[in-house]
Amino acid sequence: MKTSEFLFQNISKLKGVGIKTKKLLKKKKIEKISDLLWNLPGGFVDRSNVKTLDNLEIGEIATIKVKVIKYNFPRIRNLPNKIICQDQKGKIDIVFFNSKEGYIRKILPLNSKVVVSGKINHYKKNYQIVNPAYVVPIYNENYVNKIIPKYSLTEGLTEKIYRKLIEETLTNIVNVKEWHNASILKAIGGAGWLESVLKIHRDEEINLKSKYHRRLAYDEILANLLVLSQVRRIRKRHKKRKKNFSGNFSGELINNLKFKLTINQNQVLNEINNDIKSNFKMFRLLQGDVGTGKTIVSFLSALNVIESGYQVALMAPTEILVKQHYNLAKKLINSAEIKIDILTGKTEYSEKKRIKNSLLNGKINFIFGTHSLFQKDILFKKLGLVVIDEQHKFGVKQRIDLSNKGGINCDILLMSATPIPRSLILTIYGDMQISKIHEKPLSKKNIITLSKPEEKVKEIILFIKNQIKEQNQIFWICPLIEESKKLDYAAAVNRYNYLLKIFNNKVGLLHGNLDKDKKNNVLNNFLNKKINILVSTTVIEVGIDFPSANLIIIENSNKFGLSQLHQLRGRVGRGDKQGTCILLYKKNLSSNAKKRITILKSSNDGFYIAEKDMKIRGFGDILGYQQSGIKNFKLADPIQHEDLFKIAEQDIKLIEKNNKNFSEYNFLLKLFDKAEILNQIDSNKII
Ligand code: ADP
Ligand code: MG
Repeated sequence: MKTSEFLFQNISKLKGVGIKTKKLLKKKKIEKISDLLWNLPGGFVDRSNVKTLDNLEIGEIATIKVKVIKYNFPRIRNLPNKIICQDQKGKIDIVFFNSKEGYIRKILPLNSKVVVSGKINHYKKNYQIVNPAYVVPIYNENYVNKIIPKYSLTEGLTEKIYRKLIEETLTNIVNVKEWHNASILKAIGGAGWLESVLKIHRDEEINLKSKYHRRLAYDEILANLLVLSQVRRIRKRHKKRKKNFSGNFSGELINNLKFKLTINQNQVLNEINNDIKSNFKMFRLLQGDVGTGKTIVSFLSALNVIESGYQVALMAPTEILVKQHYNLAKKLINSAEIKIDILTGKTEYSEKKRIKNSLLNGKINFIFGTHSLFQKDILFKKLGLVVIDEQHKFGVKQRIDLSNKGGINCDILLMSATPIPRSLILTIYGDMQISKIHEKPLSKKNIITLSKPEEKVKEIILFIKNQIKEQNQIFWICPLIEESKKLDYAAAVNRYNYLLKIFNNKVGLLHGNLDKDKKNNVLNNFLNKKINILVSTTVIEVGIDFPSANLIIIENSNKFGLSQLHQLRGRVGRGDKQGTCILLYKKNLSSNAKKRITILKSSNDGFYIAEKDMKIRGFGDILGYQQSGIKNFKLADPIQHEDLFKIAEQDIKLIEKNNKNFSEYNFLLKLFDKAEILNQIDSNKII
């Protein structure tokens, strides 16, 4: 019997899926039957082009109806098997590499009539088709003689096998009750679910803008929002203990600062303080471009939490960044009442033991650490706030784990410099409140951005010499060529050697193959000014302050995306002096590359740049998103479907307002793998 549950069974339930095919499908992330639905055809091949053998054209894809007249199975290894076929008008060889004789005898019985489809070649005056896409008996002609979808597959998984699976799936799907209400359905184009699924797999006219694709893309967006909405709903059920403070500690720190907080910093600080004082657990994202001054905001919030009698943990992704934050805190927070400490993977055993004890009995108020703070054996007396800096790799699931770990009375503040386009914020961060710092402190000068062709590298060497005289340090970035890490590495090493000769050992090299210790070593040498120039692939961390680094040179800059270039140049000019960024390019820039350089020169606003980047390159390519744990959508495209994201935001608001039961969306949630995470949420394993 056909049921809607059919789709959620293991892929091995389909005919012909054995261990081998299952493994191959897994490579394409296809494990359940429904996963097949979201592997969309990349195009269609017209096999309705039926030809007689006097009418063939080299290079075309043709379908022929022929009789098998002779086998040629050579006994020499590596020679292909050749089957001679004919029709009334001529002859053709069907050639097979790597196919067994028995198999060929089965699909091409001698003297039988068959339909063969494939690309026409010419070899020694004969027509031939090598490894044909289709060979079927004549009575099955209709299976081939038409326009056939083409899927991106993986080696070993043939079109023939795959097409059977998708066909079996499409013919066995049953329709389900519409889950969108009439007005939503109308707004997204009115296509029903089953109709849309069939169309996107069978109709070559369908593109991103068609109502069928849009319908399914909308489903995907809403499934994401439903999960986040549920997280919000459950969180609201819990009440935490309010924290009371008068702002004594934070006031003292403000007095110690050499600068005044910006209006924007004060605003977000207020938002955070209100959360901390409330009886709802804070779960807030602080978004702000590099250099907008997020760190100080987090310190001030931390001090308020400490004043109200709780401990605070600040986590950052790397040891060097943790140390930097820790040192800054030691410098700025002078009150004898506040005990600050640091715990990283490198902390020695006895020291770690002491710190663990002090956290447990409450002697430490403010702890800085890497992920090591996350370990099971680290227990706090009274943890009231966790701050996570520059951590992009947190998806919804990790955020839930993090929040649970702190317990009900622990507020959470995440900080990120990854700019998220407006249309996506709710879909990606919908389980959190969001604060945004838009402006950089006025005292921060914009970084001067220049571009130069590569041949003028000598001029740059002169420029560098002057910079070094002025005590400035230099980053030299070599591009990461995705296809070849080896080539990359070689390019960086070459540049390093070139600069070494000129600048006598005052040059360091940082690349992805270095282990953690060596990496830290190089970074520390740069930080302590033992070296003046750091040649690097793009591995320099976000967030580290190198106050004397005021020049960054980016080689082959057209290989980088806009956002990435912006993040890179944000590494300089973090001290008091003017920062400069030089973009080196090879001759003959494409018009897109020129556009990008112009945008970069004209703006220092990472969020503006990210939006532009998205428009030029498309969402999937924007660097930073890959690492950010923001999963790629399978169907929805944040640029093409921007309006759908907006409709979904309204939709979810109404769903929440009407307190609609999510079980109505059960099928939808399962389709997009959201059921499991929702179960977890429902069983209240969430704080
Ligand atoms: P990010 O948001 O990238 O983490 P930081 O917190 O590291 O930025 O701040 C960047 C620099 O700006 C630091 O040197 C910091 O001292 C400085 N800064 C922060 N707030 C202000 C301000 N209101 N006025 C001037 N400088 C500030
Ligand atoms: Mg920072």
